[in-house]
Amino acid sequence: MKVTFLGTGTSQGIPIIGSDHPVCLSEDPRDKRLRVSVMVEWDDYRYIVDCGPDFRQQMLTNNVDRVDGILFTHEHADHTAGLDDIRPFYFRQGNLPIYGHKRVLRSLEKRFDYIFVEPHQRYPGAPEVDQYEIKNNQSFKLGNLNIIPVNVWHHNLQVFGYRFDKFAYLTDVKTIDTSELQKLKGLDVLVINALRIQPHISHLNLEEALALIERINPKKAYLTHISHMLGFHAKVEANLPNNVFLAFDNLTIEI
Ligand SMILES: [Zn+2]
Repeated sequence: MKVTFLGTGTSQGIPIIGSDHPVCLSEDPRDKRLRVSVMVEWDDYRYIVDCGPDFRQQMLTNNVDRVDGILFTHEHADHTAGLDDIRPFYFRQGNLPIYGHKRVLRSLEKRFDYIFVEPHQRYPGAPEVDQYEIKNNQSFKLGNLNIIPVNVWHHNLQVFGYRFDKFAYLTDVKTIDTSELQKLKGLDVLVINALRIQPHISHLNLEEALALIERINPKKAYLTHISHMLGFHAKVEANLPNNVFLAFDNLTIEI
């Protein structure tokens, strides 16, 4: 399995528009972070988790010519705002499968109503999707793999993480119920969000992320959904435990 980090930044991305913060001005390419998303590939399958405002750029940078579907973690704009840019895939492949909690699918329907209208009402250039509702404690098939949704909390908003075999992707976590932790046993790689050094109401900070990684105990962990306030990539990564890494845009890992 191959995982590509399409974006590793928090909701505004790094640099932030108009910011003169030293991390926003950094010349280290690892300090430039598009909005969070990963591409997961195995055998002949290719799925993407979340489709934020940088989706088009992420597809172009990685020369992606086909996707089998998009999984959504939750409805916030930094995870969904790029949905219109599935059009090239729709024109080439037909209806694109999308997966998410019922609440997330309904939110997309409201905000992208022209995608969800009946075929006879649809503007000819609009894309079409096939919707798949994800329910907690119900695994589902993508290709030949059983995917396990993992329920986490983003302050008081429900968010799904996804486990693909020995790989799990959790973003926008603040808390996780103890009962969900058993779904994360025996991982080779865990990706989890770490926003910044200071605590935040709806995101794990670095200290909390490291503590949760210790409880889950994967072989390796990568941090994502990073704000400029976490600091410079090189400096932060130098102080992480041996099996924990900072993800950066376009990093690929083999699992
Ligand atoms: Zn987010």
